[in-house]
Amino acid sequence: MAKLISIFVSFFVVVQANAFTLSVSNGAFFTNNEVRINVADNCQNSGYTASGLLSLAVEASEQFWNKVPTSRLRLKQGGVVSVAGAFRTDSICSSDNPCVPNNSLIHTQEILISCNINATNFPSTSIIALTVPNNVAGQTINAATLLINDNVSNQFATKSRPEQISILAHEIGHAFGLGHSPVKDSLMYFQSRATSFRLGWDDIDGITYLYPVEQPFSGCGTVDLNQSGSGKMGPMIFGFLFALLTGLAFRKKALSGLFSGTRSRK
Ligand SMILES: [Zn+2]
Repeated sequence: MAKLISIFVSFFVVVQANAFTLSVSNGAFFTNNEVRINVADNCQNSGYTASGLLSLAVEASEQFWNKVPTSRLRLKQGGVVSVAGAFRTDSICSSDNPCVPNNSLIHTQEILISCNINATNFPSTSIIALTVPNNVAGQTINAATLLINDNVSNQFATKSRPEQISILAHEIGHAFGLGHSPVKDSLMYFQSRATSFRLGWDDIDGITYLYPVEQPFSGCGTVDLNQSGSGKMGPMIFGFLFALLTGLAFRKKALSGLFSGTRSRK
């Protein structure tokens, strides 16, 4: 039975540990604790100015990812930047499965949000956004591109502000290294972009795996009985004496019972 329980516990732990996935297969991540989000000044149909979109992205970061105490990653406000026309018109991948990043959309702006109208990126209006960490060296993400569908009749503009924040938070998750989660209450769940308004345990596991807080090792803990002065010793000595006397009394009673029992058997 004990073995059965131990197998069950192991299975449960393994399933929990492997639920989230990674956006870069080798588990790449940003090496700095602080990563800036910048927005390209090239949107026409998103319903936002570039600075409005930047505020939305900062709100998404604060409301979701920056709240995780076990993660060292802190997403920060960058600025509005000018980018080449390719960021609005080109496909993010030069070939798919797996995506080979299009060099024209590689940049050094850490996380860059850009509007885009390319039909390969957005074959329908139901695809709202697309994110690829496209400047990766080994296990280091240098930069990621987050594209918002800016075609006329795009669905981003029709969403409520909380839904738009949730969508951006989901895409930012891809930008810093997380893939989709099979866990339904996760922000990174692949089918619920606009319906998660908080992080699930799997999102927290994912960001903590990629960006663990490093705890400084302070050595073994010590207990100093005199640390708070001699006042602490009085109750301790009293307690010790009380325990000793109680123990002796109990032992005496037990011995007495033993002898009386022995006598009664006769
Ligand atoms: Zn996604």
